[in-house]
Amino acid sequence: MKDTYDVVVVGAGNAALCAALAARERGASVLALEKAPEHFRGGNTYFTGGAIRCAYNGLEDIRELVPGVSDEEAAAIDVGSYPEARYYDDLMRVTEGMSDPAMAQTLVSRSLSTLLWLRDLGVRFTPLYGRQSFKVGGKHRFWGGLAVEAVGGGKGLSDQLFKAAIDRGVSIRYATKAMRLLMDRRGRVSGVVAQSPEGLEEVNSKAVALACGGFEANAEMRARYLGPGWELAKVRGVPYNTGDGIRMALEVGAQSHGHWSGCHAVAWDLNAPPTGDRNLTDLYQKHSYPLGIIVNVKGRRFVDEGADLRNYTYAKYGREILGQPRRVAFQIFDRKVEGLLRDEYRIPQCTTARANDVRSLATALDIDPDGLADTIRRFNDAVQDGEFNPAVLDGKGTVGIEPPKSNWALPIDEPPYLGYAVTCGITFTFGGLRIDQNAQVIGDEGSPIPGLYAAGELVGGLFYHNYPGGAGLMAGSVFGRIAGQNAAAGPG
Ligand SMILES: Cc1cc2nc3c(=O)[nH]c(=O)nc-3n(C[C@H](O)[C@H](O)[C@H](O)COP(=O)(O)OP(=O)(O)OC[C@H]3O[C@@H](n4cnc5c(N)ncnc54)[C@H](O)[C@@H]3O)c2cc1C
Repeated sequence: MKDTYDVVVVGAGNAALCAALAARERGASVLALEKAPEHFRGGNTYFTGGAIRCAYNGLEDIRELVPGVSDEEAAAIDVGSYPEARYYDDLMRVTEGMSDPAMAQTLVSRSLSTLLWLRDLGVRFTPLYGRQSFKVGGKHRFWGGLAVEAVGGGKGLSDQLFKAAIDRGVSIRYATKAMRLLMDRRGRVSGVVAQSPEGLEEVNSKAVALACGGFEANAEMRARYLGPGWELAKVRGVPYNTGDGIRMALEVGAQSHGHWSGCHAVAWDLNAPPTGDRNLTDLYQKHSYPLGIIVNVKGRRFVDEGADLRNYTYAKYGREILGQPRRVAFQIFDRKVEGLLRDEYRIPQCTTARANDVRSLATALDIDPDGLADTIRRFNDAVQDGEFNPAVLDGKGTVGIEPPKSNWALPIDEPPYLGYAVTCGITFTFGGLRIDQNAQVIGDEGSPIPGLYAAGELVGGLFYHNYPGGAGLMAGSVFGRIAGQNAAAGPG
């Protein structure tokens, strides 16, 4: 195994493999170092649903990306459009206007072209029927700006990226973690010190692209940066994303950037394992809460379940659940919406109960029965008339209760009643490194660090407070590709 490459990529998730592919395309020799053993490869990317948010102007763009859509299928779907300006606005809206404008613009303006690049490399996409469309008026209507997923979800995306990379000559070393960055006398990053079962070794390169995830799997860093209690959250993905890339870059003078106390965290099955399950991947999530209500152990509601389309609330509600007594919440539905619940509500591993009266449901789930009965009675009284339509913000809300439910408010009054116990599952962290338009890491005095590039979850500045679903993979692909292209040119 040679120990000198043009580009060393740290990690082998979506961002890393996009960087590796882009660098190879520019003629660089590329080595990807992956901390996980081969049978556990793929990073958090493997655990995703593979849903990816790109800007598009209408069905024609989707058909270019998904050539398999027949005329018959096209006639049965309504994907609407998701112009770049709306993508940008959504990003700004959910991040409270804090997303770095230049990064946000790069993300949205390069989203579709980057997916077309991936398509040309052999990654296949398909319309996101299961989780992102509702059948309304005889047509599948897609909502929330998220129209496609990778074929095979996250597993499919990961496998297709590995195939593309290996077919094109990217070398990959598994069970090998980057420990620290090497710097030459001119202050250029010139490789990494890596640790494998054989021991420590130096791998030299003209450039290094860090793409080894955030610090979501590091309990100590979670407590330190996200705050007390976060060490107790469940981790939705791999145990390997422990902030190594961020630490290594800070050690050579990189600038920290973004929302270091912020993260993406969702409602996750109460009895899910401490870190991700490679077979079930994202199925411990519970994303149909806009169709019902969420209560705590006292039976009290604490968020507006219908504040916005699910894509724009789910990533911040994990934090709200972490703040409840015992870090537990319960999603409550009735028969009317059971058929609309997502697939993840049907796995045998769900922590769930069903009963014909509200008090029995409460007892089965360990919720205060009086509290739940009172909440549901007051909620039902507050529901306003209107037409329920899960594919749009239907405005069918409540009045006179706190918090309100702003959309999709249906009374909970038709047994059987269903309850699902959830806790907080952390997905990824928002804080990280500062990069420039070339995905080059910026030093703490404001200029780029020669030879050092970064992409994916370890980059800060794009997401603050909240996140639009599907933007993580897209950001990893867009900035991974840019990082790889520029890393191939050398130290910069
Ligand atoms: C359950 C779940 C569902 C999700 N669903 C979606 C979705 O549908 N759409 C979406 O856009 N996003 C989704 N996300 C977020 C998504 O995972 C990320 O945005 C994206 O996959 C991150 O890609 P990445 O390449 O930055 O990190 P990863 O894919 O996590 O890759 C990082 C890699 O670096 C490796 N590594 C860590 N430290 C080292 C080291 N020192 N040396 C070498 N290797 C190292 C890790 O082992 C890992 O393989 C989901 C996340 C989870 C957990």
